[in-house]
Amino acid sequence: MSAEARRPKTLRANEQWRLARTLLESSAVPEGRETTWRAAREVLESERGDAHLVASVLVVDLGGRVLLARHRRYLRWGLLGGHLERGDVDLSAAAERELFDESRLPVTVHRTPLDANLSTYQCGTAAAPVRHVDVCFVARVKAPTPTTHANSELTGLEWFDVGRLPTPLVSDIAELVELAGGSAWRHTAQTSNAAGER
Ligand SMILES: [Zn+2]
Repeated sequence: MSAEARRPKTLRANEQWRLARTLLESSAVPEGRETTWRAAREVLESERGDAHLVASVLVVDLGGRVLLARHRRYLRWGLLGGHLERGDVDLSAAAERELFDESRLPVTVHRTPLDANLSTYQCGTAAAPVRHVDVCFVARVKAPTPTTHANSELTGLEWFDVGRLPTPLVSDIAELVELAGGSAWRHTAQTSNAAGER
C-alpha cells in the first residue's frame, strides 16, 4: 500500500483530532482571523468524517524575511507544511517535522498557533474534494538559513523580504505574514536571539 493510500487512516486518529480541538479552544484568535478560525473549530468540534488535519509553518527571520515554498500541485508560493502523520504527538510537532522534511531546517515552532483555517480541495486518491483543517505556526530564526529542497512536492524554496512577496501567492499568506510581523513576534524577536527557542 502506498503512503498516499495509508494517509486518511492516519489522519482520522482520534487523539490528534482531539488535541487540535483543545489547542484551538485554548488559543487566542488573532485579529482579523475570527471567521476562518471559527470555521476550523466548527469542523474540529463535529464528526471528523473524511476531513484531514494539516500543520503548516511560517518561518521568519529577525530581518523581516520569510521562507516560502512553491508547491508543485498548486504552482503558487505558500507555507511549508503538510498532513499529520502517525507518530506526530501534536500539531506543532507535525509542523516541525514537515519543515524539516521539506527544507532540512531544524527549528522549533512557537506552540501558539498563528492561524487556523478550513479549505476544501482534492487530495490523494479521494474521489471528491476533502475538507482540510490547517493550523499554522510561526518559527523564528536569526537570519535566512540555507535550506534544501528536500521534498519532490516543492519546485521552489526561497527567502523573501516581506515587502516583496512573490506571485502567485496562496490566498491569505500576505495576511499571515503581516500577523507574524505584528507585536507578538516583535516582542519575541527582541527578547530572544537564538533560532529554535520557544
Ligand atoms: Zn488531505
